[in-house]
Amino acid sequence: MSITPLMPVYPRCDVRPVRGEGCYLIGERGERYLDFASGIAVNLLGHGHPKLVKAIADQAATLMHTSNLYGMPLGEKFAQRLVDTTFADTVFFTNSGAEAVECAIKTARRYHYANGEAHRHKIVTFDNAFHGRTLGTISATSQPKMRDGFEPLLPGFDVVPFNDLAAATAAVDEDTAAIMLEPVQGEGGVTPATQEFLSGLRKLCDEKGLLLILDEVQCGYARTGTFFAHEQYGLTPDIMAVAKGIGAGFPLGACLATEEAAKGMVFGTHGSTYGGNPLAMAVGMTVLDEVLGEGFLGHVKAMGARLRSALEQLIPNHDGMFEDVRGMGLMLGVKMKDSHDARAFVAHLRDHHGLLTVSAGQNVVRILPPLVIEESHISECIERISAGARSFGDANAA
Ligand SMILES: *Cc1c(COP(=O)(O)O)cnc(C)c1O
Repeated sequence: MSITPLMPVYPRCDVRPVRGEGCYLIGERGERYLDFASGIAVNLLGHGHPKLVKAIADQAATLMHTSNLYGMPLGEKFAQRLVDTTFADTVFFTNSGAEAVECAIKTARRYHYANGEAHRHKIVTFDNAFHGRTLGTISATSQPKMRDGFEPLLPGFDVVPFNDLAAATAAVDEDTAAIMLEPVQGEGGVTPATQEFLSGLRKLCDEKGLLLILDEVQCGYARTGTFFAHEQYGLTPDIMAVAKGIGAGFPLGACLATEEAAKGMVFGTHGSTYGGNPLAMAVGMTVLDEVLGEGFLGHVKAMGARLRSALEQLIPNHDGMFEDVRGMGLMLGVKMKDSHDARAFVAHLRDHHGLLTVSAGQNVVRILPPLVIEESHISECIERISAGARSFGDANAA
Protein backbone atom coordinates (compact mmCIF):
# COMPACT_ATOMS: atom_id res chain seq x y z
CA MET A 1 0.00 0.00 0.00
CA SER A 2 1.43 3.39 -0.91
CA ILE A 3 -1.38 5.70 0.15
CA THR A 4 -0.66 7.57 3.37
CA PRO A 5 -2.89 7.15 6.42
CA LEU A 6 -3.73 10.87 6.12
CA MET A 7 -5.56 11.13 2.80
CA PRO A 8 -2.95 12.73 0.53
CA VAL A 9 -4.93 15.80 -0.53
CA TYR A 10 -2.37 18.23 0.86
CA PRO A 11 1.21 18.56 -0.37
CA ARG A 12 2.48 18.89 3.21
CA CYS A 13 5.80 20.62 3.76
CA ASP A 14 8.55 19.58 6.18
CA VAL A 15 7.44 21.87 9.00
CA ARG A 16 6.04 19.53 11.65
CA PRO A 17 4.94 21.66 14.58
CA VAL A 18 4.41 20.01 17.93
CA ARG A 19 4.10 23.06 20.18
CA GLY A 20 3.20 26.74 20.03
CA GLU A 21 4.32 29.66 22.15
CA GLY A 22 2.72 33.01 21.40
CA CYS A 23 3.79 34.02 17.90
CA TYR A 24 6.15 31.04 17.47
CA LEU A 25 5.74 27.42 16.45
CA ILE A 26 8.20 24.78 17.55
CA GLY A 27 8.90 21.80 15.31
CA GLU A 28 9.65 18.16 16.07
CA ARG A 29 13.39 18.76 16.18
CA GLY A 30 13.01 21.81 18.40
CA GLU A 31 13.34 24.36 15.59
CA ARG A 32 11.44 27.63 16.00
CA TYR A 33 9.37 29.43 13.41
CA LEU A 34 7.99 32.94 13.54
CA ASP A 35 4.36 32.21 12.69
CA PHE A 36 3.06 34.88 10.34
CA ALA A 37 0.54 32.46 8.88
CA SER A 38 -1.52 31.82 12.04
CA GLY A 39 -2.96 28.57 10.74
CA ILE A 40 -4.26 30.62 7.79
CA ALA A 41 -5.74 33.58 9.66
CA VAL A 42 -7.03 31.48 12.55
CA ASN A 43 -4.82 31.82 15.63
CA LEU A 44 -5.51 35.48 16.24
CA LEU A 45 -4.42 35.26 19.89
CA GLY A 46 -1.25 33.37 18.98
CA HIS A 47 -0.52 29.94 20.45
CA GLY A 48 -1.20 28.88 24.00
CA HIS A 49 -3.00 32.07 25.04
CA PRO A 50 -3.51 31.54 28.80
CA LYS A 51 -7.10 32.82 28.94
CA LEU A 52 -8.14 30.65 26.03
CA VAL A 53 -6.35 27.59 27.39
CA LYS A 54 -8.02 28.09 30.76
CA ALA A 55 -11.48 28.63 29.26
CA ILE A 56 -11.19 25.39 27.29
CA ALA A 57 -9.93 23.40 30.28
CA ASP A 58 -12.60 24.79 32.62
CA GLN A 59 -15.45 24.25 30.17
CA ALA A 60 -14.23 20.76 29.21
CA ALA A 61 -14.35 19.83 32.89
CA THR A 62 -17.80 21.40 33.33
CA LEU A 63 -19.72 20.44 30.19
CA MET A 64 -18.36 19.82 26.71
CA HIS A 65 -21.24 18.74 24.54
CA THR A 66 -24.98 18.38 24.90
CA SER A 67 -27.26 18.66 21.89
CA ASN A 68 -29.17 21.31 20.03
CA LEU A 69 -32.26 19.48 21.26
CA TYR A 70 -31.67 21.26 24.57
CA GLY A 71 -31.47 24.86 25.66
CA MET A 72 -28.02 26.44 25.30
CA PRO A 73 -27.37 29.03 28.01
CA LEU A 74 -23.83 29.73 26.77
CA GLY A 75 -24.88 29.75 23.14
CA GLU A 76 -27.67 32.22 23.85
CA LYS A 77 -25.22 34.48 25.63
CA PHE A 78 -22.62 34.37 22.87
CA ALA A 79 -25.20 34.83 20.10
CA GLN A 80 -26.64 37.80 21.99
CA ARG A 81 -23.20 39.40 22.15
CA LEU A 82 -22.69 38.94 18.40
CA VAL A 83 -26.13 40.39 17.78
CA ASP A 84 -25.34 43.35 20.05
CA THR A 85 -22.09 44.12 18.23
CA THR A 86 -23.02 43.53 14.56
CA PHE A 87 -25.77 44.15 11.98
CA ALA A 88 -27.25 40.73 12.74
CA ASP A 89 -30.40 39.73 14.63
CA THR A 90 -29.75 36.01 14.73
CA VAL A 91 -26.87 33.50 14.55
CA PHE A 92 -26.43 29.84 13.56
CA PHE A 93 -23.22 28.26 14.88
CA THR A 94 -21.19 25.83 12.75
CA ASN A 95 -17.87 23.98 13.02
CA SER A 96 -16.20 25.51 9.98
CA GLY A 97 -16.21 28.24 7.38
CA ALA A 98 -17.65 26.13 4.60
CA GLU A 99 -20.58 25.18 6.82
CA ALA A 100 -21.17 28.84 7.63
CA VAL A 101 -21.26 29.60 3.89
CA GLU A 102 -23.60 26.64 3.29
CA CYS A 103 -25.93 28.04 5.92
CA ALA A 104 -25.74 31.46 4.23
CA ILE A 105 -26.66 29.95 0.86
CA LYS A 106 -29.56 28.00 2.37
CA THR A 107 -30.78 31.06 4.25
CA ALA A 108 -30.78 33.14 1.04
CA ARG A 109 -32.66 30.54 -1.00
CA ARG A 110 -35.13 29.92 1.77
CA TYR A 111 -35.82 33.66 2.12
CA HIS A 112 -37.21 33.86 -1.39
CA TYR A 113 -39.11 30.60 -0.90
CA ALA A 114 -40.70 32.10 2.20
CA ASN A 115 -41.64 35.13 0.11
CA GLY A 116 -43.41 32.87 -2.42
CA GLU A 117 -40.64 33.32 -5.00
CA ALA A 118 -39.01 29.91 -4.92
CA HIS A 119 -37.69 30.40 -8.47
CA ARG A 120 -35.20 32.94 -7.10
CA HIS A 121 -32.35 30.57 -6.30
CA LYS A 122 -29.32 31.84 -8.20
CA ILE A 123 -26.34 33.49 -6.55
CA VAL A 124 -23.85 35.81 -8.23
CA THR A 125 -20.28 35.07 -7.10
CA PHE A 126 -16.82 36.12 -8.24
CA ASP A 127 -13.66 34.95 -9.95
CA ASN A 128 -10.83 34.03 -7.55
CA ALA A 129 -13.32 33.61 -4.72
CA PHE A 130 -12.85 30.95 -2.09
CA HIS A 131 -15.80 29.82 -0.01
CA GLY A 132 -14.75 26.36 1.17
CA ARG A 133 -14.54 22.77 -0.06
CA THR A 134 -18.04 21.33 0.26
CA LEU A 135 -19.97 20.56 -2.90
CA GLY A 136 -22.05 23.69 -2.41
CA THR A 137 -19.14 26.01 -1.75
CA ILE A 138 -16.98 24.72 -4.62
CA SER A 139 -19.99 25.28 -6.86
CA ALA A 140 -19.73 28.96 -5.93
CA THR A 141 -16.25 29.34 -7.46
CA SER A 142 -14.94 29.12 -11.00
CA GLN A 143 -11.59 27.54 -10.14
CA PRO A 144 -11.08 24.29 -12.06
CA LYS A 145 -8.58 22.89 -9.53
CA MET A 146 -11.33 22.83 -6.91
CA ARG A 147 -14.16 21.71 -9.20
CA ASP A 148 -12.67 19.19 -11.63
CA GLY A 149 -13.87 15.66 -11.10
CA PHE A 150 -16.62 16.60 -8.65
CA GLU A 151 -19.26 17.51 -11.16
CA PRO A 152 -22.21 17.72 -11.42
CA LEU A 153 -22.10 20.51 -8.88
CA LEU A 154 -24.87 22.58 -7.35
CA PRO A 155 -26.44 24.62 -10.13
CA GLY A 156 -27.34 28.29 -9.83
CA PHE A 157 -24.06 30.17 -9.46
CA ASP A 158 -23.11 32.92 -11.90
CA VAL A 159 -19.43 33.71 -11.51
CA VAL A 160 -18.28 37.11 -12.78
CA PRO A 161 -15.06 39.18 -12.45
CA PHE A 162 -14.32 40.67 -9.02
CA ASN A 163 -14.49 44.45 -8.63
CA ASP A 164 -16.55 44.65 -11.82
CA LEU A 165 -19.90 46.18 -10.88
CA ALA A 166 -21.21 46.20 -14.45
CA ALA A 167 -20.58 42.46 -14.79
CA ALA A 168 -22.37 41.73 -11.52
CA THR A 169 -25.30 43.92 -12.53
CA ALA A 170 -25.55 42.20 -15.89
CA ALA A 171 -25.57 38.76 -14.24
CA VAL A 172 -28.68 39.50 -12.18
CA ASP A 173 -31.99 38.26 -13.57
CA GLU A 174 -35.44 37.37 -12.23
CA ASP A 175 -34.12 34.11 -10.77
CA THR A 176 -31.30 35.71 -8.76
CA ALA A 177 -31.52 35.35 -4.99
CA ALA A 178 -28.31 36.89 -3.71
CA ILE A 179 -24.82 38.20 -4.36
CA MET A 180 -22.01 36.61 -2.36
CA LEU A 181 -18.43 37.80 -1.95
CA GLU A 182 -15.45 38.19 0.33
CA PRO A 183 -14.97 41.92 1.08
CA VAL A 184 -11.25 41.13 0.95
CA GLN A 185 -10.49 38.06 -1.15
CA GLY A 186 -8.06 35.89 0.81
CA GLU A 187 -7.04 32.75 -1.09
CA GLY A 188 -7.57 34.66 -4.32
CA GLY A 189 -4.69 37.04 -3.61
CA VAL A 190 -5.54 39.45 -0.75
CA THR A 191 -7.66 41.68 -2.94
CA PRO A 192 -9.96 44.18 -1.22
CA ALA A 193 -13.24 45.06 -2.89
CA THR A 194 -13.19 48.66 -4.05
CA GLN A 195 -15.52 51.03 -2.21
CA GLU A 196 -17.40 51.72 -5.43
CA PHE A 197 -17.85 48.00 -6.10
CA LEU A 198 -19.14 47.02 -2.65
CA SER A 199 -21.38 50.09 -2.32
CA GLY A 200 -22.68 49.40 -5.80
CA LEU A 201 -23.49 45.79 -4.91
CA ARG A 202 -25.34 46.90 -1.77
CA LYS A 203 -27.40 49.32 -3.85
CA LEU A 204 -28.03 46.69 -6.53
CA CYS A 205 -29.27 44.25 -3.88
CA ASP A 206 -31.60 46.87 -2.41
CA GLU A 207 -33.02 47.75 -5.81
CA LYS A 208 -33.57 44.16 -6.95
CA GLY A 209 -34.65 42.60 -3.65
CA LEU A 210 -31.48 40.48 -3.46
CA LEU A 211 -29.66 39.48 -0.32
CA LEU A 212 -26.05 40.57 0.10
CA ILE A 213 -24.00 37.73 1.57
CA LEU A 214 -20.53 38.58 2.82
CA ASP A 215 -18.04 35.80 3.40
CA GLU A 216 -15.91 37.24 6.19
CA VAL A 217 -14.47 33.87 7.17
CA GLN A 218 -10.93 35.12 6.56
CA CYS A 219 -11.16 38.93 6.62
CA GLY A 220 -13.54 39.15 9.59
CA TYR A 221 -13.02 39.02 13.31
CA ALA A 222 -10.60 41.91 13.75
CA ARG A 223 -8.19 40.73 11.05
CA THR A 224 -8.46 43.99 9.09
CA GLY A 225 -8.51 46.29 12.12
CA THR A 226 -12.27 46.57 12.53
CA PHE A 227 -14.42 43.82 14.00
CA PHE A 228 -15.63 43.05 10.48
CA ALA A 229 -14.14 44.30 7.22
CA HIS A 230 -17.47 45.62 5.89
CA GLU A 231 -17.51 48.26 8.64
CA GLN A 232 -14.74 50.03 6.75
CA TYR A 233 -17.03 50.32 3.73
CA GLY A 234 -19.87 51.91 5.70
CA LEU A 235 -22.44 49.28 4.84
CA THR A 236 -23.87 46.04 6.19
CA PRO A 237 -24.76 42.70 4.61
CA ASP A 238 -27.99 40.75 5.05
CA ILE A 239 -26.17 37.53 5.77
CA MET A 240 -22.56 36.91 6.78
CA ALA A 241 -20.38 33.81 7.11
CA VAL A 242 -17.75 33.87 9.85
CA ALA A 243 -15.19 31.29 11.01
CA LYS A 244 -11.36 31.12 11.30
CA GLY A 245 -10.60 33.82 13.90
CA ILE A 246 -13.89 33.39 15.78
CA GLY A 247 -12.55 30.24 17.46
CA ALA A 248 -8.87 31.29 17.41
CA GLY A 249 -7.92 27.66 16.78
CA PHE A 250 -10.99 25.83 18.03
CA PRO A 251 -13.24 24.66 15.15
CA LEU A 252 -16.04 27.22 15.20
CA GLY A 253 -18.00 29.15 12.60
CA ALA A 254 -21.18 31.18 12.44
CA CYS A 255 -23.77 32.36 9.99
CA LEU A 256 -25.20 35.73 10.99
CA ALA A 257 -28.34 37.23 9.48
CA THR A 258 -30.89 39.97 9.86
CA GLU A 259 -34.35 38.96 11.02
CA GLU A 260 -35.71 39.68 7.55
CA ALA A 261 -33.09 37.60 5.72
CA ALA A 262 -33.56 34.69 8.15
CA LYS A 263 -37.34 34.63 7.83
CA GLY A 264 -37.32 31.25 6.08
CA MET A 265 -35.10 29.51 8.63
CA VAL A 266 -37.80 28.06 10.84
CA PHE A 267 -37.95 24.85 12.90
CA GLY A 268 -36.50 21.89 11.08
CA THR A 269 -34.89 23.75 8.18
CA HIS A 270 -31.28 23.42 9.34
CA GLY A 271 -29.16 21.76 11.99
CA SER A 272 -25.81 20.52 13.23
CA THR A 273 -24.87 17.96 15.85
CA TYR A 274 -21.83 19.77 17.19
CA GLY A 275 -22.53 23.32 16.06
CA GLY A 276 -22.56 25.73 18.99
CA ASN A 277 -21.83 23.15 21.68
CA PRO A 278 -20.91 24.40 25.17
CA LEU A 279 -17.16 23.97 24.65
CA ALA A 280 -17.27 25.93 21.39
CA MET A 281 -19.38 28.64 23.00
CA ALA A 282 -16.98 29.03 25.93
CA VAL A 283 -14.17 29.48 23.40
CA GLY A 284 -16.24 31.94 21.41
CA MET A 285 -17.02 34.08 24.45
CA THR A 286 -13.38 34.15 25.53
CA VAL A 287 -12.08 35.13 22.09
CA LEU A 288 -14.79 37.76 21.73
CA ASP A 289 -13.91 39.29 25.11
CA GLU A 290 -10.32 39.67 23.94
CA VAL A 291 -11.14 41.00 20.49
CA LEU A 292 -13.63 43.56 21.76
CA GLY A 293 -11.57 44.34 24.83
CA GLU A 294 -9.93 47.71 25.43
CA GLY A 295 -7.40 48.60 22.76
CA PHE A 296 -7.44 45.34 20.79
CA LEU A 297 -8.73 46.70 17.47
CA GLY A 298 -6.56 49.79 17.81
CA HIS A 299 -3.55 47.53 18.26
CA VAL A 300 -4.41 45.63 15.08
CA LYS A 301 -4.70 48.91 13.16
CA ALA A 302 -1.41 50.22 14.53
CA MET A 303 0.50 46.99 13.90
CA GLY A 304 -1.10 46.67 10.46
CA ALA A 305 0.05 50.16 9.48
CA ARG A 306 3.60 49.50 10.74
CA LEU A 307 3.91 46.13 9.07
CA ARG A 308 2.57 47.50 5.84
CA SER A 309 4.95 50.43 5.70
CA ALA A 310 7.89 48.19 6.64
CA LEU A 311 6.94 45.82 3.81
CA GLU A 312 6.58 48.72 1.39
CA GLN A 313 10.07 49.89 2.31
CA LEU A 314 11.42 46.49 1.28
CA ILE A 315 10.28 46.92 -2.31
CA PRO A 316 12.97 49.36 -3.53
CA ASN A 317 15.68 47.47 -1.62
CA HIS A 318 15.09 44.26 -3.52
CA ASP A 319 15.01 45.43 -7.05
CA GLY A 320 12.74 43.54 -9.35
CA MET A 321 11.29 41.11 -6.79
CA PHE A 322 8.21 42.67 -5.27
CA GLU A 323 5.41 44.43 -7.08
CA ASP A 324 3.28 45.93 -4.30
CA VAL A 325 1.74 45.45 -0.86
CA ARG A 326 -2.01 44.94 -0.67
CA GLY A 327 -4.66 44.18 1.94
CA MET A 328 -6.04 45.77 5.08
CA GLY A 329 -4.96 45.69 8.74
CA LEU A 330 -3.05 42.50 9.46
CA MET A 331 -4.37 40.78 6.35
CA LEU A 332 -1.54 41.71 4.03
CA GLY A 333 -0.17 40.40 0.77
CA VAL A 334 3.08 41.07 -1.03
CA LYS A 335 2.62 40.61 -4.74
CA MET A 336 5.73 39.32 -6.43
CA LYS A 337 6.85 40.19 -9.91
CA ASP A 338 6.19 37.58 -12.60
CA SER A 339 9.90 36.70 -12.61
CA HIS A 340 9.65 35.34 -9.06
CA ASP A 341 7.29 32.65 -7.81
CA ALA A 342 5.47 33.45 -4.55
CA ARG A 343 5.07 29.77 -3.67
CA ALA A 344 8.80 29.19 -4.01
CA PHE A 345 9.53 32.29 -1.95
CA VAL A 346 7.13 31.17 0.82
CA ALA A 347 8.95 27.81 0.88
CA HIS A 348 12.32 29.56 0.94
CA LEU A 349 11.32 31.79 3.89
CA ARG A 350 10.02 28.73 5.72
CA ASP A 351 12.92 26.38 5.04
CA HIS A 352 15.83 28.80 5.28
CA HIS A 353 14.68 31.73 7.38
CA GLY A 354 12.26 30.25 9.92
CA LEU A 355 9.37 32.44 8.83
CA LEU A 356 5.91 31.06 8.09
CA THR A 357 3.74 32.87 5.54
CA VAL A 358 1.13 31.52 3.10
CA SER A 359 0.97 31.81 -0.64
CA ALA A 360 -2.19 33.05 -2.32
CA GLY A 361 -3.49 33.44 -5.86
CA GLN A 362 -2.04 36.05 -8.22
CA ASN A 363 1.55 35.33 -7.12
CA VAL A 364 1.02 36.83 -3.67
CA VAL A 365 2.77 36.05 -0.37
CA ARG A 366 0.13 36.31 2.34
CA ILE A 367 1.18 37.69 5.69
CA LEU A 368 -1.30 36.83 8.42
CA PRO A 369 0.34 37.21 11.84
CA PRO A 370 -1.44 36.65 15.12
CA LEU A 371 -3.25 39.90 15.97
CA VAL A 372 -1.34 40.13 19.26
CA ILE A 373 2.08 40.70 17.60
CA GLU A 374 4.35 43.39 18.97
CA GLU A 375 6.79 45.62 17.13
CA SER A 376 9.64 43.20 17.83
CA HIS A 377 7.82 40.52 15.81
CA ILE A 378 7.42 42.94 12.94
CA SER A 379 11.15 43.77 12.98
CA GLU A 380 11.98 40.09 13.09
CA CYS A 381 9.64 39.35 10.18
CA ILE A 382 11.11 42.16 8.09
CA GLU A 383 14.69 41.04 8.82
CA ARG A 384 13.82 37.53 7.77
CA ILE A 385 12.05 38.59 4.59
CA SER A 386 14.94 40.89 3.77
CA ALA A 387 17.53 38.16 4.28
CA GLY A 388 15.25 35.72 2.46
CA ALA A 389 14.87 38.05 -0.49
CA ARG A 390 18.67 38.40 -0.75
CA SER A 391 19.37 34.67 -0.63
CA PHE A 392 16.37 33.85 -2.84
CA GLY A 393 17.58 36.38 -5.40
CA ASP A 394 21.08 34.91 -5.28
CA ALA A 395 19.75 31.37 -5.63
CA ASN A 396 17.63 32.46 -8.57
CA ALA A 397 20.56 34.22 -10.20
CA ALA A 398 22.80 31.14 -9.75
C1 LIG B 1 -11.10 29.42 4.85
C2 LIG B 1 -12.26 30.01 4.14
C3 LIG B 1 -13.47 29.32 4.00
C4 LIG B 1 -13.65 27.87 4.40
O1 LIG B 1 -13.46 27.67 5.75
P1 LIG B 1 -13.25 26.14 6.30
O2 LIG B 1 -13.25 26.32 7.78
O3 LIG B 1 -11.96 25.67 5.73
O4 LIG B 1 -14.39 25.35 5.81
C5 LIG B 1 -14.53 29.98 3.43
N1 LIG B 1 -14.41 31.26 3.00
C6 LIG B 1 -13.26 31.95 3.12
C7 LIG B 1 -13.21 33.37 2.66
C8 LIG B 1 -12.14 31.35 3.68
O5 LIG B 1 -10.99 32.02 3.75
